Amino acid sequence: MTPTVAIVGGGLGGLTLARVLHTRGIPSVVCELDASPAARDQGGTLDLHEESGQRALVEAGLLGEFRAAAREEGEALRILDRHGAVRFDETADASGGTRPEIDRGALKRILVESLPEGVVRWGAKVTAVAPGKLTLATGDVVEADLVVGADGAWSKVRPLLSGAVPGYSGMSFVEARLSDVDERHPGPAALVGAGSMFALAEGRGLIAQRTGGGWIRVYAAVTTPDPDTVTELADRDRLLEVFADFSAGLRALVAESEGVLIPRPIRALPVGHRWPRLPGVTLLGDAAHVMSPFAGEGANLAMLDAAELALALAAHDDVESALAAYEAAMFPRAEEAARSSADNLEACFAPGAPAAMVEQMTRFAAGHPRKESP
Ligand SMILES: Cc1cc2nc3c(=O)[nH]c(=O)nc-3n(C[C@H](O)[C@H](O)[C@H](O)COP(=O)(O)OP(=O)(O)OC[C@H]3O[C@@H](n4cnc5c(N)ncnc54)[C@H](O)[C@@H]3O)c2cc1C
Repeated sequence: MTPTVAIVGGGLGGLTLARVLHTRGIPSVVCELDASPAARDQGGTLDLHEESGQRALVEAGLLGEFRAAAREEGEALRILDRHGAVRFDETADASGGTRPEIDRGALKRILVESLPEGVVRWGAKVTAVAPGKLTLATGDVVEADLVVGADGAWSKVRPLLSGAVPGYSGMSFVEARLSDVDERHPGPAALVGAGSMFALAEGRGLIAQRTGGGWIRVYAAVTTPDPDTVTELADRDRLLEVFADFSAGLRALVAESEGVLIPRPIRALPVGHRWPRLPGVTLLGDAAHVMSPFAGEGANLAMLDAAELALALAAHDDVESALAAYEAAMFPRAEEAARSSADNLEACFAPGAPAAMVEQMTRFAAGHPRKESP
């Protein structure tokens, strides 16, 4: 019998699940609290890995749409020290062209447009969850054989399965943006190049990514023992004081930025987070394994989890066997990525930075797949 599936959260994970289920003839409903797909800024750019994010798009039948919207030149990567000296510089061609970048907004649009009208219920905030049943803020109830928590780091579904909560990593980002960079900000545009740039020192860094439409998104990475204190750094003058010993060219990424600065404490679930099987409920993506962005895996894993869960549901006659098969593959995969992401966070900002990241990237450039981000 075809199960009914209720998905909490219409991020990249939840939408990929709905899409792959749809291609296999399994209906689902996605409850998403945002009022529309364009309700908020969708964030920067992502490189989708062949073995995870792109594999999910193959299963979703959307690889062509992805390729048409992706930016191959966005794969370029530069690593600088705090004086602005370039210590590693890889063009998109040299990186092998297997991991093109795509703006999150564009990827989300592709997924939303691939779903029949009505699959995503926008403005549907889930306020209570029980096996087989979601309650929305409106009081409406959604019933289903399977409830999937694809609702991110602060999942409402996770407490049914596990008492774990994301812990603070000790590192926070302050996000800034520059628009129309080739015209209005030629210095930052030249410094960042076509892809991503990491300027690293011990415990601090300026990470910048070029996105579509002439934007650069900057993440100023700072070590703060208390995540609440990072809000004080969402002020250009205070933030620039933290980077007083960085070159003027690098500081321009903050000084010339526009609009409000957004504090983003980096949090993660314990490495190896898992739960005992509970009939009719599971998690995917950040709800299951939110990690720091330093392995560049979060969105890739959310999409792969989603595709594999959909394939398991299509392949098994009963929901429980499908969930057991899905979780048996997902738990160790997430554990490995979470460990690598925690290790990378430490290596990126270790004494002598950016030496460890330069060494890692030089090694990968010599023939291994890339493992970096955000
Ligand atoms: C600064 C930064 C940079 C990153 N860079 C990368 C990168 O380069 N590569 C990469 O692979 N990953 C990266 N990540 C990680 C990536 O963003 C996440 O892992 C990914 O978005 C997780 O997708 P998801 O669908 O699981 O969750 P989310 O994207 O968080 O989606 C969850 C959805 O659930 C909805 N929701 C939440 N609660 C409710 C509720 N109660 N009711 C209804 N809806 C609800 C939310 O509105 C949201 O739409 C980065 C993260 C950060 C913070």
